[in-house]
Amino acid sequence: MASKSKFQAIRGTRDLLPPETALWNHVEETAHSVFATFGFGEIRPPIFEPTELFARAVGGETDIVSKEMYTFVVGDFDRLIAWREFVSNTNKIRDLDELDIYERSLSYLHRFVQEFVKNGHLPDDDQIRTTLAAVQKTMSFVGAALIEGRRSNGLVNLDELDREVENAAIAAGSIRPGEQISLRPEATASVCRAYIEHNMQQLPQPQKLYYIGPMFRRERPQKGRYRQFYQIGAEVLGGVDAPAIDAEVIEMVMTFFDRLKLPGIHLEINSIGHAADNCRRGYVALLKSELEKVKDKLGADSQRRIETNPLRVLDSKLEHEQSIIEKLPHIADYLCDDCKTHYAAVKRELELRGVFYKENWRLVRGLDYYMRTTFEITAQGLGSQNAVCGGGRYDGLVELLGGPPTKGIGFAIGEDRLILSLQESQGASLATGHRPPFVYIAWMGANAYATAVRAAKDLRAAGIRVELPPTESKFGKALERASKLGAQYALILGDNEVAEGTWTLKTLADGTQQKFTEPHLLDFLKKM
Ligand code: ATP
Ligand code: MG
Repeated sequence: MASKSKFQAIRGTRDLLPPETALWNHVEETAHSVFATFGFGEIRPPIFEPTELFARAVGGETDIVSKEMYTFVVGDFDRLIAWREFVSNTNKIRDLDELDIYERSLSYLHRFVQEFVKNGHLPDDDQIRTTLAAVQKTMSFVGAALIEGRRSNGLVNLDELDREVENAAIAAGSIRPGEQISLRPEATASVCRAYIEHNMQQLPQPQKLYYIGPMFRRERPQKGRYRQFYQIGAEVLGGVDAPAIDAEVIEMVMTFFDRLKLPGIHLEINSIGHAADNCRRGYVALLKSELEKVKDKLGADSQRRIETNPLRVLDSKLEHEQSIIEKLPHIADYLCDDCKTHYAAVKRELELRGVFYKENWRLVRGLDYYMRTTFEITAQGLGSQNAVCGGGRYDGLVELLGGPPTKGIGFAIGEDRLILSLQESQGASLATGHRPPFVYIAWMGANAYATAVRAAKDLRAAGIRVELPPTESKFGKALERASKLGAQYALILGDNEVAEGTWTLKTLADGTQQKFTEPHLLDFLKKM
């Protein structure tokens, strides 16, 4: 049993070790090659981004953003101190006078200050100076107004005062956020940010991009659910929203799974229309009123969601809610004509490509800019965490992040779950591509050693795996070790062999031996 060491991988994270990593590489190489045939290029965005990017793109109300992100406040300690001092001085000044008007103006500023501190937005020195100057100006104005006010019996020009306070507030508001960063919980936001930042709308449209890498979410770890996990995802940005694009993106995922021989794959699709009164908004209003009628029979989570996000109620996995949810109206019956036409065309396009799907009217996305096509793919052997891929159309996202109006559709595959499913179904027989021959060089003697080093170099250059023992050992010992390591061949090099120029290759499985000259040996092994 392994002894408990002082340091262990953090809960929800894990080491991927050989030989399993060979499978990971096989999966990733397959993704590179399949996605390339569909004209996708790889993007590698950074692993952390401004928190604000995810808050906007994923949605501040989602579980991911509200409680699962790993977030850090950056900025140096001195600035933090300076900022705190500023806040406390503002407090002190406020406490000095009881007059309403003083109170009103300063509490206005105070609120701003608190807002910034709460959000961890620590301004840089320049911004502190500008803000302080603006605030000081206001304070002296307020002071003067007070003196005057006292003198003239409460007659203060309130309009003017409000304007001054507002100016100070604007100055305070010019403190740019972005001092808070988060480890990415997903990568669509980053890809859209990069699309905007690099003006990719000026390149031929659409831009087809894919990524592979780790994501971070503070969730309860369990089978198929980790705090650092890996996604393989792709996005199509720009151009048109032709249904053929939706279908081709789905076809690409299915082709990838097919190439990996992932069994028990199940594709579900839906259309969630678009955010308009004659489409999804109308449906959601109806859904909400229907949910109100059965509210008492629903659990606390669903009851809350009736208010915050009625569509999410459809997601519920609670046993006792199922029969209630099944009776709710279906979105397909309330789509506008354009969305209906688009959905029908997506289905035709899938059929044209021989992609099997099942419709699931309860497949939803809770955010406004998600629209029309949504899909989810499940695999076998994963228990309740059986979703290996989620995707959908998000035409409003790039614009929401400050870019031009841009069509968008994409998906994310959970690589950890994909690998788990492959392991469960194929076990040890998992084919991970061509394995090169493995040769153990059993050498004895100083002359033999020099030759062994050269032979190792030549064999490796030919793509053959070579184990060259760093110290001399008897042939018997060497052969034992070769077997233990799983070598197929032992190349026996003693001083005799080197002098004769013919080398002995032993096949470890059956113990047979063959003699080769050096060039013939290479030819023989290359054919293996
Ligand atoms: P789930 O419902 O399983 O939590 P999700 O809706 O949060 O999934 P997405 O954000 O759509 O998932 O991410 C796409 C895919 O990433 C999922 O289908 C899943 O395979 C994988 N995934 C998501 N969260 C995790 C996690 N914590 N650990 C491992 N894989 C994950
Ligand atoms: Mg989740």
